[in-house]
Amino acid sequence: MTGTAALIHLDNLKHNLETVRRLVGRERRICMPVKANAYGHGMVPVARAALEYGCDCLAIARTEEGLILRREGLTCPILIMGHAPEEELADLVAGKLEPYGGSPAYLEALERAADRVLPPGEMVSVHLKVDTGMGRIGYIFASPRLRLAGVCTHFPASDTDDPGDRAFTEGQLAALTEAARMIRTLPGAGENGPFLVHGANSGAVAQHGESCLDMVRPGIMLYGYEPLPQSPVGVRPLMELSARLVFAKRVPPGQTVSYGRTWRAERETWIGTVSVGYADGYNRLLSNRGKVMINGRIYPVAGRVCMDQIMVDLGPELREKVGDRVILFGPPPCPFSAADIAEELNTISYEVCCLITARVKRIYLSEGKPCIIGKEGISHGE
Ligand SMILES: *Cc1c(COP(=O)(O)O)cnc(C)c1O
Repeated sequence: MTGTAALIHLDNLKHNLETVRRLVGRERRICMPVKANAYGHGMVPVARAALEYGCDCLAIARTEEGLILRREGLTCPILIMGHAPEEELADLVAGKLEPYGGSPAYLEALERAADRVLPPGEMVSVHLKVDTGMGRIGYIFASPRLRLAGVCTHFPASDTDDPGDRAFTEGQLAALTEAARMIRTLPGAGENGPFLVHGANSGAVAQHGESCLDMVRPGIMLYGYEPLPQSPVGVRPLMELSARLVFAKRVPPGQTVSYGRTWRAERETWIGTVSVGYADGYNRLLSNRGKVMINGRIYPVAGRVCMDQIMVDLGPELREKVGDRVILFGPPPCPFSAADIAEELNTISYEVCCLITARVKRIYLSEGKPCIIGKEGISHGE
């Protein structure tokens, strides 16, 4: 296996999709958010693997992300959960991406873009957000260019068990279902055809089962992090950040290590150099705080995290060899995942994964072995 890499455990993605499938049932659609390079895991391979494992459609945040998926030959519905600038709308519409939103100006701009780039009679599927777009239903039903594909909302407080937050989410859900009921009674609803009612992100899937409606959009849970750690649903992290022990040297008591001399040996000890640094996305705030796993043993980070490397205290008796694999975080058997790193840094697992930088190669594993995810599916090569 190569030097510094993010190993992506696709078996865990499969397990997580099965977990979500069990929670939401056979009838509902599962839309996997693959925005932000699939939360740092690699957008195209993760999208292909998820579709192979039974996910129904994808969601992204930016036009360019959707266009990349289309260029790679993905034909499933792709929701674009964000407001695209006007100059991107022709590409968005031509790429058959499904925009999300409801401001009058946005709908009108989409209509104009459709007039420019779509053949006569073809329509743009739009998902209307209940909080912003309700006044525009009549406009959509009357438009020859717009079709209502979904009525949706987002639950920003679904991942806490605070009673006030739970009541807030329940209120949002009531507003969403009431809006959907009302829309179905409007003139034009019949010709428009069916639309999907959706809102549930990971927190809502985990603790607001009644919010799952026609489609769910869980992200973080599919990447393997519990939206409510206090009531886990049993997902497994996909990402393992892995590097190599590249050097080891014995240091005498009193010797300092790394920039700023913030770490000092209290006894004679072995200091190992590991090929990962903040330029890989291993946060500098983990200086003197992070831990690593080598051959099943845990060692602390010694001194400041550098751009391209860290030092670890391997103890007075050297048990590891130069060249050994070092795990910075990952699914079990590593005892710390991106969620634990996030807790240490006072942030969230989303950010820890998203900030793994482009120079870190993503290596995909299925059935525990490196694999290739091509247009024809997952294969193990030679
Ligand atoms: C990112 C996103 C999601 C997924 O949220 P998670 O917390 O990762 O489950 C769902 N809906 C929208 C609109 C999003 O932007």
